[in-house]
Amino acid sequence: MDFNLTENQRMIADMVRDFGKKNIKPKMREWDETQEFPIEVFKQLGELGLMGVLVPTEYGGSGFGYLEYVTAIAELAKIDGSIGLSMAAHNSLCTGHILQFANEEQKKSYLPKLATAEWIGAWGLTEPNTGSDAGNMRTVAVQDSDHWVINGAKNFITHGKSGNVAVVIVRTGDVGDSHGMTAFIIEKGTEGFSAGRKEDKLGMRASETTELIFQDCRVHKDQVIGNVGEGFIQAMKVLDGGRISIAALSLGIAQGAFEVALAYSQERHQFNKPISSLQGISFKLADMATEIEAASLLTYQAADMKNRGLDVNRESAMAKLYASEVSVRAANEAVQIFGGYGFTKDYPAEKYYRDAKLCTIGEGTSEIQKLVIARAILK
Ligand SMILES: Cc1cc2nc3c(=O)[nH]c(=O)nc-3n(C[C@H](O)[C@H](O)[C@H](O)COP(=O)(O)OP(=O)(O)OC[C@H]3O[C@@H](n4cnc5c(N)ncnc54)[C@H](O)[C@@H]3O)c2cc1C
Repeated sequence: MDFNLTENQRMIADMVRDFGKKNIKPKMREWDETQEFPIEVFKQLGELGLMGVLVPTEYGGSGFGYLEYVTAIAELAKIDGSIGLSMAAHNSLCTGHILQFANEEQKKSYLPKLATAEWIGAWGLTEPNTGSDAGNMRTVAVQDSDHWVINGAKNFITHGKSGNVAVVIVRTGDVGDSHGMTAFIIEKGTEGFSAGRKEDKLGMRASETTELIFQDCRVHKDQVIGNVGEGFIQAMKVLDGGRISIAALSLGIAQGAFEVALAYSQERHQFNKPISSLQGISFKLADMATEIEAASLLTYQAADMKNRGLDVNRESAMAKLYASEVSVRAANEAVQIFGGYGFTKDYPAEKYYRDAKLCTIGEGTSEIQKLVIARAILK
C-alpha cells in the first residue's frame, strides 16, 4: 500500500480547506447555535463535485474512488463535523444505495440530480423501536396491483425534511425473515410521505435529523430497488461502504481537535512556560497523534480494499469502531488541554467534543461494530 497522498487527494484536500475557510468557518457557530441546515453549502459542494464523489462521470459524478472520498470527508470534518456527516450520508447512503443496486433507468433518473446536489438525498432504515436491530422493522409495504402502500415511520433520518428523495427500506415479508424487506425510492411530495419532528441534538447540529412518516403512501412498483425482498441485504452492503465514510468523519474530527489542542498548548503559558512543555500535556498530545495515525491507517486500508472490490465487512467495521472511539478520546483530551476555556463556546474544543460522540453511534454503534467484527473472525 502506498502511503503517499495521490495528486487527486492533494487537490481535493486543498480545495476543501480553501472552501471551508471561505464558506463554512465564518458561519458554522451560528448554524450550530440555531441548528440550521445550510443547504446552500451543499449546493456549492455539489458544484465542486463533492456530492457525487463515487458516482461515475457518465451519471454526472466525479468518478473518484474511496481514497479521494475519505480525504474529502476528513478535511470537511476537520472544519465542521456536521457538514462532513451530511456530505457522507448523501454520498454513501442514498446515492450509494442507488448507485450499487438500482436499475439503469433509475440510475439515469436520480444519480445526475444527486451527484450535482440539485437534489439532496436521505436514507431511511432506522425506526423508533428498531435501531441496532434494524431487521425487526415494522414499517410495512403492502402490494396493491402496480403499487405498494406504505405505513409506518422512520426516525433519526439525515435530511428527512430537506431531502428531495429518500431510499427507504420497509417490511414486505415476515418479521424475522432477512428477505422480508424491500428498498424503495420515494420522492418528496409523494402523497402520504412527510417529514416529522426534527431532533434537537447534542452535536452535529447543522446536519438535519428528522422523522419520516408514511400514511397510506402509494409508491409505484417501478420505484423498488432491485428485487422485492432484497432491501435488508442491500442495506447491510451499503453500510459496509458507509462505515468507511464514518471512519473518515471520525478521523477528521480527531485531527481537527488535535490541531487546535496542539496550537493552544504552545501558546498557553502556566508556571512561566508553555503547557506543551509539561510532560502531562505532551504525553496527551503524543497519545492523540499516535491513535490518529492508527485510525488513519485502518480507514485508508478499508478504502483501498473497497477500491479493489474486496469484501470490507470486517475492515470497515474495524476502521469505524477504532476511528470513532479515537475521535471521542481526542476531543475529550482537547477539551482538557484547553482547561476552562475548553468548556466555553469561545474556543473550538467543545464543538469537536459534542460532534465526535455521534461517530460511535451513527451507522451502527461501537457495540454493533464489535458484533460485526466478532462474527467475521469467528465464522
Ligand atoms: C445524528 C444521527 C443521524 C442518523 N442518520 C440516520 C440516517 O440517515 N438513516 C438511518 O436509517 N439511521 C440514522 N441514524 C440512526 C442510527 O443509525 C441509530 O441511532 C443507531 O444505529 C443506533 O440505534 P438506536 O439509536 O435505536 O439505539 P439502540 O439500538 O436502541 O441501542 C441502544 C444501546 O444498546 C446497545 N445495543 C443494541 N444492541 C446490542 C447488541 N446486540 N449487543 C450489545 N449492545 C447492543 C447499543 O450499542 C446502544 O449502546 C442516525 C442517528 C443519529 C443520532
